[in-house]
Amino acid sequence: MENTDEKKGNILLVDDLPNNLQLLSDLLINLGYTVRSVTSGKMALRTLQVKRPDLILLDIKMPDMDGYQVCEMIKKEEELQDIPIIFISALGDTFDKVKAFECGGVDYITKPFQIEEVVARIEGQFTIQRQRIALKREVRKRREAEEVLYQSRALLSSVLNSALDGIAAMQAVRNPQTGDIEDFRCLVINPILSKAFNRSREDLIGRVLLKRFLQRLDPQLFDQFVNLVETGTFLTQDIYFPIANSDWYHFVAVKLGDGFAVTVRDITDRKRMELELQAANQQLQLLANIDGLTHIANRRRFDEYLAQEWQRHCREQKPLSLILVDIDYFKAYNDLYGHQKGDDCLQKVANTLVDIAKRITDLVARYGGEEFVIVLPNTNRQDALAMAENMLQAIAALAIPHEGSSVSKYVTISIGVSSIIPMPEDTIERIISEADQALYSAKSQGRNRAIA
Ligand code: GH3
Ligand code: MG
Ligand code: MG
Repeated sequence: MENTDEKKGNILLVDDLPNNLQLLSDLLINLGYTVRSVTSGKMALRTLQVKRPDLILLDIKMPDMDGYQVCEMIKKEEELQDIPIIFISALGDTFDKVKAFECGGVDYITKPFQIEEVVARIEGQFTIQRQRIALKREVRKRREAEEVLYQSRALLSSVLNSALDGIAAMQAVRNPQTGDIEDFRCLVINPILSKAFNRSREDLIGRVLLKRFLQRLDPQLFDQFVNLVETGTFLTQDIYFPIANSDWYHFVAVKLGDGFAVTVRDITDRKRMELELQAANQQLQLLANIDGLTHIANRRRFDEYLAQEWQRHCREQKPLSLILVDIDYFKAYNDLYGHQKGDDCLQKVANTLVDIAKRITDLVARYGGEEFVIVLPNTNRQDALAMAENMLQAIAALAIPHEGSSVSKYVTISIGVSSIIPMPEDTIERIISEADQALYSAKSQGRNRAIA
């Protein structure tokens, strides 16, 4: 019963005849019940307010208020209406059983009592009551569980619906014979992800669709998802998947049951910015290595390339050649034709040199002013000198008038060539100074020539 200290139950006895009361009360107390006795309906109603019994034994025939009336009063009170009431009637009393049940009684006993019958009926009621209480408790527990479930569902669905990332859960579809994962079924997908697929959620949930989808995107990904489910390792990656206005996504997938949960973020803006930045950096890098006037490599690029090739040729013990080109009487050319014409001339000479040094590894750079330098990897002195001769001819063939020159009617160049198999004890300046000296010789021997 509800009172744990009164294990057998707490009974209220209502009878106007004290003798009857005493007898029944003694019997029940002997059997271990807790019994309170009152001799009128009024007293019964009063004592009920003080302490709630588990059961009421109620005499029908009483002065003032009879048992039916008392019963009706009790049933009107919400707090008390659940207490089972068993009517007591004396043998020979006119007793209306229908009325007894109608006004809320659950059973009746006829005096004189047979104690076994009384106990059986009381116990019957207590059993019913115990079961009712247990049932109520069960119902309450279930209602609480339902409420918790409802709240967590509501929370989950609000998270899914309002998330800025795409979220989905996939379940492995396995071959019944081999147990191998053949595909994945979509269990959950939130609006943002279903929108990215341009499909309704109803269209996707419950469908086995991942393999076909990944076939278009990246067939290797399917195997990676299978591996994720089999090993429990997580998977994270940027993927290119152009759809609508977006084309880059980042996803993280983690094992969930016999499947995985995945969150997908649109990183198109970030990726575009990265790519733009990359392109801008490449452009900047290029510009940093290019001469503004002639659009060939600049001095910076030359220094870098020569250092790199010097190291490589030192390791490989191969001949590295350098050609230094200087336009003859260029100061006079500028003075005569103007700076603009001078620039045009520099561009023409640059283009001509680039046309001759055709190998992919050859580098033609503007060394400064009206001087150019050509790095010729894997080239010996003889071949470098031959190329220098070609350059002399090609510049002559341009036939750019130069009235200020004392060696020709046209613009000419002087060339110094050096060629070295670099030794570890050599410094890079050696190849430059040797080319410089050769150029000086070419100038002093009358210009318009190449000296090696
Ligand atoms: P040499 O035959 O001994 O080489 O005589 P040079 O006049 O060519 O040699 P110098 O070093 O005295 O003069 C080089 C001239 O090249 C001076 C400068 O006006 C000109 N020059 C250098 N850079 C540029 C340029 O970017 N544009 C133009 N137009 N002229 C340039
Ligand atoms: Mg010069
Ligand atoms: Mg010069």
